[in-house]
Amino acid sequence: MLDASSGRSRRFFHTLYSRARPTPRTALNGVLPDNRPMHLINADLHCHSHVSDGTLSPEALAERAHAQGVELWSLTDHDEVGGQQRACDAALALGMDYLTGTEISVSFIGETVHIVGLGFDPEADALRAGLATTRSGRRDRARQMAASLAQAGIAGAFEGALRYVANPDLISRTHFARFLVDSGVCPDTHAVFRRYLTPGNPGHVPHRWAGLGQAVRWITQAGGIAVIAHPARYRFTPTEEYALITEFIAHGGLGMEVVTGSHSTAEQSRYTDTALEFDLLASRGSDFHSPAESRTELGALPDLPGRLKPVWGALQHRIQRVPRRPLTALATAA
Ligand code: AMP
Ligand code: MN
Ligand code: MN
Ligand code: MN
Repeated sequence: MLDASSGRSRRFFHTLYSRARPTPRTALNGVLPDNRPMHLINADLHCHSHVSDGTLSPEALAERAHAQGVELWSLTDHDEVGGQQRACDAALALGMDYLTGTEISVSFIGETVHIVGLGFDPEADALRAGLATTRSGRRDRARQMAASLAQAGIAGAFEGALRYVANPDLISRTHFARFLVDSGVCPDTHAVFRRYLTPGNPGHVPHRWAGLGQAVRWITQAGGIAVIAHPARYRFTPTEEYALITEFIAHGGLGMEVVTGSHSTAEQSRYTDTALEFDLLASRGSDFHSPAESRTELGALPDLPGRLKPVWGALQHRIQRVPRRPLTALATAA
C-alpha cells in the first residue's frame, strides 16, 4: 500500500527524471511570474506522513499544506521515498508545485544528523538501496528500545509502538513516544523525549546510521540537492559543527535549512550567517509531523531572509509543476 513502485509510477518518475542534468551550483535569484522575489515563495520543504513518523497520509498532508497557503511543497519522510508518487499526484491535483524529498538519518562523530534530499529521482537505484539499508536496522533497534524500557518498568512497548506504525519498515522513536503518551506514562511527546528514548535515558539505544558522504552521494547522484536539516538541533561544539559543514560540502552537499519549525529567531539569524559564510543554498521547512504534536503548522514559517539563495532557485528544473492553462483557454473562460 505504501510502496509507490507500481509499474505506472515507476514509468511516471522515470519519464520525469530520465533526462536528469547536473545540479547547478548557483541559485537563480530571479522573480516569480507574479513579480515576487524568489525567496518570498511559501515553500515548505520538510514534513512527514504516516509513511514514516507523521500521522497523516500523503494526500491529507498535501491538502493541509495547500489550505495553509503552501505554494511549493516536499514530503520528506525519514529514510523512505514510498510516499513520493502519492504526494506528487496529490500536490499537482491541488495546484501546488512539488519537489521530491526525503530526510536521511546519518551518523557523524557519534551524533545522529539529518540530511534532507530534495529534487532527486526517487527511482535511482543507489538511493533506493541506500535507504533500504538505512531502514533495515530499525526493527532490531526497536526491540532493543523495548527491552530497555521494560527494564525501566514499561512492558509491551514494542507491540505498543507497532500499533502506531503504518509502514512496517519504518518504526521510529516517535511511534514509541506515541505509545508512552497514550498509555499515560508522559503527558505529551515532547515530555517523552526529555525522560525517555534520548541519550542517558531509558529506551535509548545507540545506533549506526548511514555515513555523511554516503547519504550526500545517494542524493546528488540521483540529481538532487543535499541539505543539512535543522542545524541548531545537534549538540556539537563549534569545532564539531565546522567539521560537519566542511565535510558535508566536500562530499557535494549544497544546502542548509535556515528557516525551520524548531529554530528560534536567534538560531535562524545565526544560521543565516552560517549559510552566507559557507555559500550554502538555504531551505525552509516546518518539519510538521502531526496536528496534535507539531508546534509549527505547514507553511507557517518566517520568510527566507532575502540575503540568502533559496535552494528552490537551484532546483527550478526539478520542480513538478501544475500545468498552467494556455492563454487561449483563459480568453474563452472569461
Ligand atoms: P528516530 O529516527 O527513530 O531516531 O526518531 C527520530 C524522530 O523522533 C525525529 O524525527 C522526531 O520526529 C522525533 N524526536 C526526536 N527528538 C524529539 C524531541 N525532543 N521532541 C519531539 N520529537 C522528537
Ligand atoms: Mn520525525
Ligand atoms: Mn529531523
Ligand atoms: Mn523531519
